[in-house]
Amino acid sequence: MNLLNEKIENAKSICILGHERPDGDCIGSTLAIYNYIRNKYGDKKVVRPYLDYFSKNFLILPNADKISNDLMCADTYDLAIIVDSSSIDRLGDYKRYFDEAKDSILIDHHENNTFPSKVSIVFPESIATAQVLYDFLDKDYIDKNVAICLYVGIATDSGVFRYKATNSKTLKIVANLIDFGFNFTDILDKIVFDNTVNQRKAQGIAFDRLELLYKGNVSFSYLNENDLNSLNLEKKDIDNVIVYLREIENIKVAAFAYQVGNNIFKLSLRSKSDAINVADFANKHEGGGHKLAAGCIYYGDIQTIKKNFEKDIKEFIEAK
Ligand code: 5GP
Ligand code: MN
Repeated sequence: MNLLNEKIENAKSICILGHERPDGDCIGSTLAIYNYIRNKYGDKKVVRPYLDYFSKNFLILPNADKISNDLMCADTYDLAIIVDSSSIDRLGDYKRYFDEAKDSILIDHHENNTFPSKVSIVFPESIATAQVLYDFLDKDYIDKNVAICLYVGIATDSGVFRYKATNSKTLKIVANLIDFGFNFTDILDKIVFDNTVNQRKAQGIAFDRLELLYKGNVSFSYLNENDLNSLNLEKKDIDNVIVYLREIENIKVAAFAYQVGNNIFKLSLRSKSDAINVADFANKHEGGGHKLAAGCIYYGDIQTIKKNFEKDIKEFIEAK
């Protein structure tokens, strides 16, 4: 029995935790574990997934309605299972459930993971936490529900099987998953590709502001709080803007800034070159992530941020 199954076996009560503003990998991995434990143990264990608010598109995932965003639950848990989180601060206020749990295990794929769990299972070469998880689940208890959740985790973190870390192992796992016979076309449309009209309008605003910085090496755009409020959108609704900023010819890095506070913007970063590790860049600016996809913080009004970011990224790229 591997460590994950051992810890689950020995715990009567389990909470599952992931990072703030959870993405498809985080939500998919959380629900894969939830459904897996239910398949294996029925109602014999208390299992509570806790995540920050997420896009309602993910409510089609099996048992997504079981995810709680309650920060005030008085219960403590024998085991906290943490997914897709590279450091303790990524849990946000849900950290308290980890602090209060007797035991903990982390499943993740971020390089330089610093999460202080009792046991850490981290494979940075893996495209998604859901891919790491697949190897640690007992295949007898993977059913269609678990398969859908793992599929969505892998599909979303790999840009639907396109990003560099996608490999034959990823596709073999995905082949096994789709053999459970779910309508993946429909799931991908509902979770990845379909947008609301206001999301498309926000993308329109961002495209209108698109600029190339540093001699065409870097694409840059932004949305501020006003834009989001006027379209009634939240950060989770504009996650895909960076995808399009990346799909621009001849650039090396894409950057999308979105306002998270007064004179505070979060930058989503994407690199198109193995030689440019945006996680290293992000680490210097209160962030982190992966080599090719990372996030960090800049302060000031957007024009100041653009100027400072251009200078920093120029220095960073030239140092390579
Ligand atoms: P995104 O741009 O999609 O929000 O994030 C891209 C990647 O960078 C994700 O893997 C995400 O977990 C990671 N990331 C984004 N912001 C942060 C941050 O502030 N700290 C760390 N450690 N990772 C981040
Ligand atoms: Mn992930």
